[in-house]
Amino acid sequence: MKIRLNDDAEIVKTIREGLKARDGHCPCRREISEDTKCMCKEFRDQIADPNYEGYCHCMLFYKSLEE
Ligand code: SF4
Repeated sequence: MKIRLNDDAEIVKTIREGLKARDGHCPCRREISEDTKCMCKEFRDQIADPNYEGYCHCMLFYKSLEE
């Protein structure tokens, strides 16, 4: 399992700016809580799921199942 940033530098830049503006909380969600602090609970759960492969909600990170 590997986690990498999106290959699209523009997306990475935009999401990082969004995170900064929200004190590290997900720019794709309205709620501000421990669950929405990057890496958010949803993505942590997706990382823990042995069958999940794909992007986090904001598409900042990609989880691949390959080594
Ligand atoms: S892991 Fe992705 S979806 Fe979750 S807070 Fe970070 S950028 Fe948003």
